[in-house]
Amino acid sequence: MTIARPRGTNDILPGESEQWQVLEEAIHRICQAYGYREIRTPIFEHTELFERGIGETTDIVSKEMYTFSDRGQRSLTLRPEGTAPVVRSFLEHKLYGQALPTKLYYVGPMFRYERPQAGRYRQFYQFGVEAFGSGDPALDVEIIAMPIQVYKELGLETFEVCINTIGCPDCRPAYREALRSHLADSKSQLCRSCQTKYDRSPMRILDCKEATCQELTKDAPLILDYLCSGCRDHFAEVKRYLELLEVDFVHDPRLVRGFDYYTKTVFEIKVESLGAQDAVGGGGRYDRLVEEMGGPPTAGVGYGVGMERVLLALQQQAGDALKPSGMDGFLAQFGGATKEQAVVLAHRLRALGLKVDLDYLDRSLKAQMKAANRSGARWVMIIGQEELENNQARIRWMYDGTEEAVDFDTAAQYLAAKGKEPITQ
Ligand code: AMP
Repeated sequence: MTIARPRGTNDILPGESEQWQVLEEAIHRICQAYGYREIRTPIFEHTELFERGIGETTDIVSKEMYTFSDRGQRSLTLRPEGTAPVVRSFLEHKLYGQALPTKLYYVGPMFRYERPQAGRYRQFYQFGVEAFGSGDPALDVEIIAMPIQVYKELGLETFEVCINTIGCPDCRPAYREALRSHLADSKSQLCRSCQTKYDRSPMRILDCKEATCQELTKDAPLILDYLCSGCRDHFAEVKRYLELLEVDFVHDPRLVRGFDYYTKTVFEIKVESLGAQDAVGGGGRYDRLVEEMGGPPTAGVGYGVGMERVLLALQQQAGDALKPSGMDGFLAQFGGATKEQAVVLAHRLRALGLKVDLDYLDRSLKAQMKAANRSGARWVMIIGQEELENNQARIRWMYDGTEEAVDFDTAAQYLAAKGKEPITQ
């Protein structure tokens, strides 16, 4: 019996991997355009990092972590998200001692034990950024604008940007209290999960997808009416900068997101056509997290984007835009000395950066032409006995079937110069 991949994981096959490369190229380029530098942290960390960093009552920590003991009986966890590891590294290497703000980005796999469905996996990829050391609302807006630029450059046009503020430890307690007293009489009607949230994090009840909980919180008080002046001004500035940048957004007063560490701004970007798992990215400000994790008081703001979902949305919206480009050329030969010439020329062409291939199965010319076609080659260089005697390769342009003869000595240079030119008919 053969062995299948674990549930909730994906193989990224040729045809898809090229799409990933296009996405990754855009991520690296755009993050760097905004002044962010890449950080790569381990795939696993001490379990305690996530318990402290994300919060023990969150769904991720209480139900979704891949936690195991290693042979030294240490409790380790495959990272379920990127922020806690980046904060850990920021502190461990005392990056706060360098010029602030520190702007970091990451790209890599995350692991959550969730029920797999379209757009939700147990191993999935995220890219994200974290900016430390500034509480400026203009930085929140930079953070929102960056993933939008990635989506747009790739051809994703239809998405919704939702923002909200969830206050800070100064103003949130009064709001939490108001929410609790609003729900006090109906607490027993909340879903089991929300009943446990009632005491420790009642705001997360607003996020519940259960119809009963949504109904019970329909007329709940809104955080906006409880914000301190600092949080209110901050939110006004975020909205003003978004307007200056002409970023379309909606203010969703119920948006809270699932982590304990956020303060002030939170945001989520959604693509409706993705169905139940429609969030393609989200983030927010976390001005207390660095301190809570043992560092000096340091403001922070960041986001994470699910890369599979971006590709799914792109396939829906941009179709062919992600189609990988084919090979540049194919060298057809007939064995013996003609094969030698093909092997040498292929080597030279590849050194010049062209994508070329040749036959390794002693196939007929017809079969080689078919292989060339399948590979997307723009030209085929035919090297037969006659071509060897004349010291000239025959080049067939696949788009119209025309042929030309080119000296073997100059063929590689000629094709390198010509081979990348767009074909206009
Ligand atoms: P979060 O860290 O939960 O805010 O997630 C950030 C983004 O990662 C989400 O907006 C999704 O795009 C993506 N994401 C989260 N969980 C999963 C998952 N299990 N499978 C695929 N993508 C996910």
